[in-house]
Amino acid sequence: MSDCIFCRIVSRELPANEVGRTADAVAFRDLDPKAPVHVLVVPVKHVSAVRDATGTDGEALLGRVFAFAAELATELGLDADGYRLVTNTGQHGGQSVDHLHVHLLGGRQFNWPPG
Ligand code: 5GP
Ligand code: ZN
Repeated sequence: MSDCIFCRIVSRELPANEVGRTADAVAFRDLDPKAPVHVLVVPVKHVSAVRDATGTDGEALLGRVFAFAAELATELGLDADGYRLVTNTGQHGGQSVDHLHVHLLGGRQFNWPPG
């Protein structure tokens, strides 16, 4: 989608600090980091949110996106202390970019419940 920021980052039309890429997902640093490590993992294919990743293909894609996020967490040295994976959906979820993304957050203590 030409008007989607994350599609434009995926296609390298917009610059981003990329930390990894697979055939179906791209990971890059968040522009406004909320933790020492704040990486966004997005599918190459435009899917609006987790609820739109339906069917066998959608479920497999979600699996690969989360598995890739976990691999990146290991590469970034987060396994020992732990980290958080978050995907916000819709208004109450706090989603501001309408292209599915998993936040990989690490490097500090997080609280529960979230605000
Ligand atoms: P959401 O609020 O939808 O869960 O997360 C969207 C995230 O995208 C935010 O953390 C925001 O800082 C990040 N973001 C928004 N625009 C850009 C951009 O152009 N580049 C990068 N790297 N991150 C962005
Ligand atoms: Zn998109």
